[in-house]
Amino acid sequence: MDGNRFDDRPADLVLLGPPGAGKGTQARILQERFGIVQLSTGDLLREAVAQGTPAGLAAKDVMAAGGLVSDEIVIAILRDRLAAPDCAAGVIFDGFPRTAVQAEALDALLADAGRGIVAAVSLEVDDAAMVARITGRSTCAGCGEGYHDDFKRPAVAGVCDRCGGTAFKRRADDTAETVSARLAAYHAQTAPLIDHYAGQGLLRRVDAMAPIDEVTAGMAAVVETALA
Ligand code: ADP
Ligand code: ADP
Ligand code: ZN
Repeated sequence: MDGNRFDDRPADLVLLGPPGAGKGTQARILQERFGIVQLSTGDLLREAVAQGTPAGLAAKDVMAAGGLVSDEIVIAILRDRLAAPDCAAGVIFDGFPRTAVQAEALDALLADAGRGIVAAVSLEVDDAAMVARITGRSTCAGCGEGYHDDFKRPAVAGVCDRCGGTAFKRRADDTAETVSARLAAYHAQTAPLIDHYAGQGLLRRVDAMAPIDEVTAGMAAVVETALA
């Protein structure tokens, strides 16, 4: 798609929320609806691991244990992706930034490019619900559409609604054991970014315990307002 619906300015959005909050689910929907590219550092890191690049080799064990990959590696991967032409019209940052250092780096990268974040959406959830969200998660191997064993099943069991594919995959780190480590990393290093964006007047909170389509409605309202 060429440009987003708001052609006069890049629509750069940050999605904040713990693992399982629904960042990826909502980013994909907003990408389709508004023409803003989803940029998931988790997806980029998983690709690097699969390809066996130096960054992937360094990230692999940290990801498996539910820790955070080093700022240096993540910022380098993010910088490369952000330079691609499809990112010019706006990006939904999904899972980045996750530390204060990453947030500062993102502010600087965007400022250098003459752009900036228009809103940071915090998906507000209860930690206790995230184990079920994460252990029930699967993804279509063909098109990447996300599903959940209880909360988002395909219309026909075993067949992707979007592409008709029948192969689904689960992430190696989506186990009950890693969830507590990942939530701890979120609270220690990422949750403080809520204040970073509140201080810039960019923070918007959305109740992400609601059903997926209600969360989407809340997010769409934020995007429309931020870009009006
Ligand atoms: P994140 O990217 O924040 O880790 P995902 O978008 O992958 O989270 O969502 C985690 C799992 O929870 C997925 O299986 C997804 O289908 C499901 N899910 C997402 N949003 C909701 C919601 N509002 N209610 C119930 N389940 C949801
Ligand atoms: P989730 O939203 O379910 O936690 P992601 O796909 O965003 O999953 O991230 C998976 C893993 O990749 C994280 O647990 C972490 O190890 C690594 N990762 C992703 N993004 C970052 C980041 N911005 N900084 C550090 N590590 C990251
Ligand atoms: Zn599919």
